[in-house]
Amino acid sequence: MRPVAFLDLRRQTQALRPELDSALATTLDDGQYVLGPSVEAFETAFADYCGVGHAVGVASGTDAITIALQAVGVTPGDEVVLPANTCVPTVAAVEAAGAVPVLADVDDATYTLDPVSVEQALTKRTRAIVAVHLYGQCANIPPLRELAQTHELRLVEDAAQAHGAEIDGQRAGSLGDAAAFSFYPTKNLGALGDAGAVVTNDPGVAEEARRLRSYGEQERYHSVRSGWNSRLDALQAALLLIKLPHLEEWNERRRRLASRYADLLAETDIALPLEAAGNRHVYHLYVVRAGARDELVSRLKGQGIQALVHYPRPIHRHEAYRRLERSLPISERLCDEVLSLPLYPELRDGELERTADVLNALA
Ligand SMILES: *Cc1c(COP(=O)(O)O)cnc(C)c1O
Repeated sequence: MRPVAFLDLRRQTQALRPELDSALATTLDDGQYVLGPSVEAFETAFADYCGVGHAVGVASGTDAITIALQAVGVTPGDEVVLPANTCVPTVAAVEAAGAVPVLADVDDATYTLDPVSVEQALTKRTRAIVAVHLYGQCANIPPLRELAQTHELRLVEDAAQAHGAEIDGQRAGSLGDAAAFSFYPTKNLGALGDAGAVVTNDPGVAEEARRLRSYGEQERYHSVRSGWNSRLDALQAALLLIKLPHLEEWNERRRRLASRYADLLAETDIALPLEAAGNRHVYHLYVVRAGARDELVSRLKGQGIQALVHYPRPIHRHEAYRRLERSLPISERLCDEVLSLPLYPELRDGELERTADVLNALA
């Protein structure tokens, strides 16, 4: 039996190899290696894709969250509410902005931020909510937006897993005051190294993000606020420009693979991902839920199939973040039950079918 890898990035790189090679060659010849025309061209194309006015290329998704928070007006000491069921960069980015993270719980069906739990986490010091579009599905934005309006909070999207996800026909990136994307190689749109972007419809926020990514400079050698260096490489932008036109076909392929899993696993007692009403899920991860999770992971492994866990612990169960402990029962339970099955655009039908066969024999 051939093994089934959770993800093999070489397949995508190989398929686009001639175009990537030529983008690399052009960049080498251009002689401008940080920011510049290819970064600007990518920013325009990606803003269009998201249906927003502005994109600002930065060095990573983590930086994009920090810069988005600072650009919408979060200042040191402000509280920022975020879900406990996310990966560490979300909370690390909040702290990098000097803000105090406050964890909220997630919804038991969609695994994204629960607006009721968010409301309970608000205090006089709350300044912003970070809505994480987890696993490729938008968080439940309408009630979060309402909370933000009522309490005069800023709403920032962590869209690192949700390039192309939609809610009521609106794309991730266009749903709050600003949004952060990551182009880490494994994401739905991945660079060949680290990269990220802040996107927004607000020209003032975009301008602030541009300053923040480059020492707080308003113009060269004149810093108007303290910033640091989080610029996007010209090479990564040039490679992303080659990949962006394929993103829709890749997302559609992810959705077809997800629906194939759903058909093949319908008779098992594994809980399948729920696509909430009005949502377009882009399946960055295909996350199922099972009581005997660890057993399933090791039986799959025995058959050469790699399943992973996103995430094995909620934020407050990391040693570094124990101080953020509060009552977060759903996030805590999820971590013991979720597993992610192989799903990426270049996964072969036969690989998915073999994975489903093994699960059918077990569960
Ligand atoms: C990947 C990811 C990030 C961080 O992006 P980097 O580019 O790795 O810094 C932040 N939030 C979520 C939800 C992610 O999946």
